[in-house]
Amino acid sequence: MRLAIVGGGSAGWMTAVYLDRTLNGTNGPKRVQITVIESPKIDRIGVGEATVPTILKTLQDMGISEKEFMSEADATFKQAIKFVDWNKGRDSNAYYHCFDRYQTSGRDNFSLRWALSGRDKPFAYTVSAQPYICDQNRAPKRPSDKEYQGRLPYAYHMDAEKFAEFLAKTGVERGIAHISDTVTDVNTDPKGIRSVVLEHGGEMAFDFFIDCTGFARLLMSQLPGYGIRSFSDKLLCDRAVAIQVPHDPEHPEILSSTESTAVENGWIWNISLQSRKGYGYVYSSAHCSDEDAETRLRSFIGPRSESVAARRLSFQSGVLKNPWVGNCVAVGLSAGFVEPMESTGIYFVEYAARMFAELFPIFGNNLLLQSRFNELIHSRYDEVLDFIVAHYVLSDRDDTAFWKEARKQEKATEKLQDLLKIWQHKMVSASDFANSHQLFGHLNYEYCVYGSNYLPDKIRIHQSHNGAIVNKAIQTAVQSFSECLPRNSEYFSSKSPGNED
Ligand code: FAD
Repeated sequence: MRLAIVGGGSAGWMTAVYLDRTLNGTNGPKRVQITVIESPKIDRIGVGEATVPTILKTLQDMGISEKEFMSEADATFKQAIKFVDWNKGRDSNAYYHCFDRYQTSGRDNFSLRWALSGRDKPFAYTVSAQPYICDQNRAPKRPSDKEYQGRLPYAYHMDAEKFAEFLAKTGVERGIAHISDTVTDVNTDPKGIRSVVLEHGGEMAFDFFIDCTGFARLLMSQLPGYGIRSFSDKLLCDRAVAIQVPHDPEHPEILSSTESTAVENGWIWNISLQSRKGYGYVYSSAHCSDEDAETRLRSFIGPRSESVAARRLSFQSGVLKNPWVGNCVAVGLSAGFVEPMESTGIYFVEYAARMFAELFPIFGNNLLLQSRFNELIHSRYDEVLDFIVAHYVLSDRDDTAFWKEARKQEKATEKLQDLLKIWQHKMVSASDFANSHQLFGHLNYEYCVYGSNYLPDKIRIHQSHNGAIVNKAIQTAVQSFSECLPRNSEYFSSKSPGNED
């Protein structure tokens, strides 16, 4: 089969390398001939710096060395997201959404015990050593630990542009064909897409196409049934401005978490890479002009941002009504997007590539495969949408028109509203989420719900004055991790981080 991937951003090259490895293996002739067509004139989006832990398995499945990836993509470890100023009027105005959660083998009642205590320590510090390790800017592993194995779970922060370049180099070395040309026309037929016309290379026909052209959606927009299921009634943000700056010599720490700070008309991300920092303000254009957003971001970063150019981006949160139509599948931004609060853009690429490999039309293309794929993609988007909206709805900020609007109960889907109602009568638990593909289940919601101090009313009113609950297992873990795990700065200054013994 001849498969064309149009677009060479993170989505195009991840999909190419993933499909080549999973469908063709490492030896023998290639069953699927993959060609990536990438315009030399149209820039990649250039953002997409934080990931979720599924990326470890995806990179392993792609046969990529962690050490090489981290060095080529300027990558660091991410162990949590720290939500700062998402709530007002509490002792602590920040909460962690960690990747680790201590669990006992029997019925886990830590959330209830925490809720019934004086809650002197935020919830996350009671159920995980990770917030302490993040506060100390430590890595989740030692340089001598095996690739992809941490003492604590982790994902990565990385340079999106360098990541795509690294994957492109890897793909070409493995025999994936690469055409640097711009698609100027798309020819359709009853099966879907017949061929694409290149600016310099003429017409090229393939059996199957993957649209990775980002928000341009160059191929999908030519097919029947094209349309976007918008989430703009649920999420207000539709713009971002991003700035990259060198590390501050006075505060050179490499953070272990993505920081998300709520501000007047949205939120600002702060991500540490090995050689620089990335900042971005995600905001609502109905509440803030592009100029004001850039000024706000520059004032947040401080003088280091003065001589650095900003990149302005607009986006629509939503998903294609049909991500697979005929012989064409959309992956990456061309398929959909939800604001990057929980770093799900690259995850959606991983998931779509994995599901497409699983449903690959070996025995011929089929409507059943298409509708199964579309159903799976939609359910992932719905799930992620609920979790993102939950952060807004659970916030108690009401200082601007943006926050008054963003946190309205009706922004939550019926399903999320039902969950919020039942969590007024019980603690969050596994049975609230029954899908085996779920990215964000009860352990993730706990961090958000209890980080936002959303508790059953009866508990809130009858708060005990017993101080904090003491979880001895966490105290022991913190002590041992603090002794054995290096600080990020030490990890990345060691000569060859990754896997030497
Ligand atoms: P792009 O990078 O836009 O690539 C499109 C490709 O298509 C380019 O190679 C371009 O040259 C090519 N192309 C376009 N038109 C043509 C044509 N006519 N002919 C040939 N080629 C063409 N994700 C995360 O996981 N974590 C994050 O923290 C995160 N933050 C984000 C912040 C913002 C503000 C935004 C908007 C997105 C963020 N994302 C994040 C999403 C992430 O950036 C994308 O999911 C990821 O980079 C994949 O992008 P892409 O490859 O689909 O598109």
